[in-house]
Amino acid sequence: MTPLKDTYKHKGLRKVLVKTLREKGIKDESVLEAIGRVPRHFFIQKYTAEKAYEDTALQIDAGQTISQPFTVAYQTELLNIKPGLKVLEIGTGSGYQAAILAEMGAKVITVERQEELYRKTAKFLAEMGYTSVKCLLGDGSVGFPAQAPYDRIIVTAGAPSVPQPLLKQLKKGGTLVIPVGDEKIQKMITVLKISEKEYEKIELDAFKFVPLIGEGAW
Ligand code: SAM
Repeated sequence: MTPLKDTYKHKGLRKVLVKTLREKGIKDESVLEAIGRVPRHFFIQKYTAEKAYEDTALQIDAGQTISQPFTVAYQTELLNIKPGLKVLEIGTGSGYQAAILAEMGAKVITVERQEELYRKTAKFLAEMGYTSVKCLLGDGSVGFPAQAPYDRIIVTAGAPSVPQPLLKQLKKGGTLVIPVGDEKIQKMITVLKISEKEYEKIELDAFKFVPLIGEGAW
């Protein structure tokens, strides 16, 4: 395999992307810095550098997508990541979102249901040196109880409702960010766990994700 290169051109394209995200309303500097550091073109090698740094979702393997950078920034900002937090991600896909979280100092456990993507991305993230990301194969709609509780949970596929196992696996004081809706459009939801029985749910902007498929989903 030819070694991957991150040139001045790529860094320049990332600067423009960060500026675009800032203009679109992303304020958290640590999120913008992480986007400015992670070479998105490594995660989607079949596209040109220009395409890789456009603010759009792109097709990856297994009929799935890498989310639009704005969506990645928006979800990450809602998570309010601090170094050392344990984050569960459902929907590994290309691994880009996991890399952004790791870049911000989070310990990431990411679950993917498509074996082809799981294998490719687990190998790639390891080669990239992301030792704080653990990739798992399985149905993330039921979470991953073995490593619970989590400080944060992020779901990067559209769910019909908030899966109860995810709420259960969230730490008290922790936040879940998940797009919920029908197959066509979903509202971004944040759920803050106040206690085992009390949750504060906030409905935010509309997005379009690929479906979350599994026992606790479609
Ligand atoms: N976070 C990804 C990235 O950075 O590239 C983008 C994720 S893509 C929009 C959604 C992913 O969720 C797909 O790879 C899909 O296979 C996966 N997915 C769907 N249902 C799932 C489930 N129940 N458990 C785990 N992964 C699931």
